[in-house]
Formats: sequence, structure tokens, C-alpha cells
Amino acid sequence: MMALIEIKDLIKEYRINDNKSQQVLKGLSFSMNHGEFIAIVGESGSGKSTLLNIIGGLDSDYKGSVKIGGKNLKDFNFKELDDYRKLNIGFIFQSFNLIPTYTVMENILAPSDMTTMPDKIKKEKASKLLSRLGLKGYEDKMPSSLSGGEKQRVAIARALMNDPDIILADEPTGALDKNNAENIVTLLKSIAAEGKLVVVVTHSQKVANQCDRIIRLEYGTISHDSGMAVKNNPENKEKAGKISSKRLGIIHSFLIAYKNIRKNKLRNVLVSLGTGIGIFSVVALLFLSRGIGNYVTNQMYSQTNPLLVEVTKVSDNANRRFLNFTQLEPFSDAEIKQLSEIPGVASVEKGCIITGSTSLFFNDSNENIAMLSTIYKDFSPDLKEGSLPESGQIIISESLANSIGKDYASIIGKEITLKIENNNSQSVVNEKTYTISGIIESDGSPASRLKTGYVNFADITTEQNTPPINILYLTASSQKDVDFIKSDIKRFGFNVNSRDSALNRIISFINTVTIGLTGIAAVSLVVSGIMILVVLFISVVERTKEIGILRAIGARASDIKSIFISEGALLGLGSGIIGVFIAVIISAIANRILYRITGTQLIAINLPNIFTGILISVGISILASLIPATKASGLEPVESLRHE
Ligand code: ADP
Ligand code: MG
Repeated sequence: MMALIEIKDLIKEYRINDNKSQQVLKGLSFSMNHGEFIAIVGESGSGKSTLLNIIGGLDSDYKGSVKIGGKNLKDFNFKELDDYRKLNIGFIFQSFNLIPTYTVMENILAPSDMTTMPDKIKKEKASKLLSRLGLKGYEDKMPSSLSGGEKQRVAIARALMNDPDIILADEPTGALDKNNAENIVTLLKSIAAEGKLVVVVTHSQKVANQCDRIIRLEYGTISHDSGMAVKNNPENKEKAGKISSKRLGIIHSFLIAYKNIRKNKLRNVLVSLGTGIGIFSVVALLFLSRGIGNYVTNQMYSQTNPLLVEVTKVSDNANRRFLNFTQLEPFSDAEIKQLSEIPGVASVEKGCIITGSTSLFFNDSNENIAMLSTIYKDFSPDLKEGSLPESGQIIISESLANSIGKDYASIIGKEITLKIENNNSQSVVNEKTYTISGIIESDGSPASRLKTGYVNFADITTEQNTPPINILYLTASSQKDVDFIKSDIKRFGFNVNSRDSALNRIISFINTVTIGLTGIAAVSLVVSGIMILVVLFISVVERTKEIGILRAIGARASDIKSIFISEGALLGLGSGIIGVFIAVIISAIANRILYRITGTQLIAINLPNIFTGILISVGISILASLIPATKASGLEPVESLRHE
């Protein structure tokens, strides 16, 4: 009859350095069977743990063969080896090796979480084990609050959870007092009586004496074997409801990750805060550029007809500055014709801007007007009061209105006289009385604070004197013509409208700022990623032991990987939420301040950008977690278990 475990010529060597190695197991051969309760005894350092680790599939680096139910462990691939530990082996350690962040119940359930066992069966089994091991009422306790004996009973319950054939206990009573030790041995004995193979490594002769068979190791060889007990086991009862292995589910890996994050609350909150600041800069940038985008489009379409192109002519030596119209030169008839013939130009409207040579007379007072301009077809300033000027009427800026009276409503309808003088000779070229029809609202910009007036072109034209036509309003027949028209105008040596180019300058300024901010955001995102990376690396080192425990109870390398990636994703989610939170608060405050200055909501807080921010955060964190996760999953199970 085939034995459950057949070991043949098992040799284990540890490399000490390049040309020296130590042979720990020197060719062991023996068999073990169902229902046996075997003690392996021997001096410390005689290779007992090494043997147990090899049998348990934790260490595959040996010579010779270990056959389980006729199958050679050497032929198992990584996944089969993980499944073997999960389903066929129950490990019990001297130092208990419970997972400190799990409750008693969670520790017991852990092996079954990586199997197809239905939840209902899991609960039933766990509850049976709890009562069998005297742990009722301990379900929600944390391992740190248990006594040694209790911890070892939890470890035994965990080892039995997946109903394995083989229980391997490495000095299970080594850390326990006499009473507890006896309890544990009795328990193990009863487990063997059920038909399982129980192998106990022990120092204690007392423990060994209770076993049916004693194998003594000395200097890596078997110095004594009391022989297979005369036990005609097993009835080889089929396992009720065969379970099979499956990977750790996503919910479980997130739960594990969440527990780990909670364990290091302060550190993780700080990291999330740091990373959150990076995300904040990105989200704030998105808000800002969207807000400014809205603002610019509003400006373009509300204030100016997008088909309108303003053309002026400036002498070559003129130092052109925004709103400096003193250098404007009149167009000749030929030039007007040339411009009107540009393809795509639908109409040309003549206009005149007079600066620094107009005075206003009202009652006995007189005021100098900084700029008198004619209006054009689509001229549509924001009016504080009144309406656009008809023939014989004028609209004036707020600052000009202020010098006439305080009550704007009563200013409408008042008559004022404008006197336009020739710049050089001071002779009057036009003097006329207008009725005030409206007052233009100041938007706070320097230009809007000037004293200005707007009249119809016909009103400043007299028989003796045509005003200089120094601005032309070209209307394009469609939006797609506008750019061609503008480039033609420039080619002819004229200027394209100052308002539009002011807007362009604002846009290009904003673009520069945006690029700068984007750079900062990019750098902070990289820094965020590195922070997450470092924190997870530290976490891998701190939890090496825990990784070893999980591997010992059957977690696959990929399960370990997904736990760490989940941890990265959770940190990313936390950072994202923190970052978005800061961004929304700061943006809301900044918006209020900016609104007072500019009169517009420059920062657009919006849901899509909030989601983008969180998504970016989670994405970067997952990316950053890949390296530590790969490192964690690549750790050798035996090495990690030995880690302190
Ligand atoms: P036991 O459990 O019987 O006390 P071990 O199996 O733990 O003994 O160790 C047997 C021998 O192998 C000891 O001399 C020990 O120093 C050595 N050994 C164990 N693990 C390693 C290792 N990872 N590298 C090198 N030598 C090791
Ligand atoms: Mg040992």
C-alpha cells in the first residue's frame, strides 16, 4: 500500500558562501501515513524545521524526492505548490504566526478565503472549530489580547479550516506553559485519531512520549525511528464537499489592504495629505483652465461680434501701446478700398477715435475727454443706465458721468456740448450739443476708468470737416474667413484690432501660466508617486513576516501582489479625496476674491474634473505600487517566515 508521504534520499544543503556549503539533511528516507501522530526530535540545529518546511512545500531547494500520495513535490509548479499548502497542509508554529491585523475569526477564516468554499460552509466550519477549541466568544478579539495557549488554539483552528490531510507543527508547545502544552498535545492527538497525519517537531520528551512514533534526527540523519505504528488506518474517508483553490478575491484583498492602512493611520494620512497636495494642484489647474476658458469665450462672444475685425493704421515709428490711440493715422480712400476687397470681407464700416482734443461743456463747468469714439453696428457695451446713442445722442463712461452728477438716472437726458479742437492749431473743428442717452458701466479695468464718450459717426461729420477715418470695422462673411482676413490685413501693413489682440495677449498670458502650473502639477504628481512607492516599500519590509504567514497558509504570489496593489489604490483614493477637497475649498475662496476684482467666476468647480483628479490619483498610486507589490510577491515564503 502506498504511504501518504514517501521521502527518499532527501538532501538539503545551505550555501554559506561561494565555495562552502553546509549539509543539513544528509539523505533521509522514510514514510509517513494517514492517522499517524509522529514526533520528530533532535538537538537544536539538527534540521527538524528544515525537514518540516520541505514536507510543507515551503522550501523546494533540495535533492532527493518527497512524494505526496505518489506525486513528487518536485513536479509541482508554483501555483500547485501554493494550492498544496492551502488545501493539503495545516501549519502550526512555535510563535503562533497569527496575522496581527486580523481578528480571531478572520485569522481562522483566512485559508478558506482563497478557496471555493461557500460562505455558509465557512461560517459553520469556523463555528465548529471555535467550540471544539474552546474559543467561543473570542471571535472578535485581536491576537495581541490573547494568551499563548489561546493563540496556539486559534492557529490550530486555522490549520484545520481547509480540512487538510497533513498537520505540520513546529515546536507547537515551545512557547507554552505545562498545562497549555498538554492541552495542545491532546488536541493534536485527537486530530490524528480522525485520520490525519500529524507531525510534531518537539524538544520535549513528554510531548514525544504521547506520540505513536518517534523519529530522532542527529547531524542530519535519522538516528532512531520507532517505526510505523500498527495502524490500519485510514478508512480514507472522502472529504465532504471537495473544495478547490481560487485566488484571493478583489474584495478580500481590499479588506486586507484597508486593515493594513488603518494599522499605520498617521503615516498613511500624512502620505495621503502629501500626495493630495499634488492632486490638488492638478484639480485646481483643471478648474482654473476651464473657468478661464469659459470667461474668454464669454468675452469673445458677448462683448464682440466674432466676425468683426477692427483695423487701425499706425505710423511705423510709433511705439504702439494698448489704448494709445494718439498715433492712429487716417486711412486713405485707396486703402479703404483695398481692405474692402479682401476675400471674405462682407462689409466695411468707418469709424473715428479722437484722443486728447475734445472738451465737454456742461452748465458752467468744462471737462477734458480722454477719448471720443464713434460707435459701430454691433457696439454693445454694458450699460449702467440708459440706452445706446441715436443721432444727436452720446453715451459716456462712468468716470465722465461722475463729474457731471451723482445720480445717474437724472443724468440721462441732460444736454452737453462737445468741442473738438484741432490738435495743433487749437482751432475748433466741430462744436455740437448732444443729449446723454446712457452711461457705460466700468468693469474695473484701467481702460474703463478713462473719461470717454461714444457718438454716431454722422454726428461729428460737418460740411467743412470730415473727421479722420482712423479705424475701420470689417465684418467677415463667416468665422472661417476671419483668420485669412486678419493675415491679409497684417500683410498690407495695418493693425488688427486692439481689443482682440488684448484678449489674445490675455489668452497667451493665461496659457503661459497654465503651462507653468502644469509643470508644477506634473512634478508634484511624480513626487506623489514616489512617496506612495516609498511608503509601500517600507510596508513590504515591515510585513515580510505577514507575507510569509499568508504564503504558508496558501496565498499565491499573485494574491500578495494584489494586496499591495489594492493598498496603493486605496492610498490613491484617499489622496485623491483629500486633494479634491483642498482644491474645492481653496477654489471657492479664491473665486470669491477674484469675483470682487474681475466680476467673473474665474475658477469653474465641476464634477468631471473632480472625478478626473481622483482617477489620476488612483492611477498614479496603482502604478507606483507595482514595484513594491512585485517585490512582495517575489519574496521566498521560508525566508519571509524567518523574518523578525
Ligand atoms: P532545527 O529546527 O532542528 O533546530 P533547523 O532546521 O532550523 O534546525 O536548522 C538546521 C541547520 O541549518 C542549522 O545549523 C541552521 O543554522 C542551518 N540553517 C537553517 N536555515 C538556514 C539558512 N536559511 N541558511 C543557512 N543555514 C541555515
Ligand atoms: Mg527549528
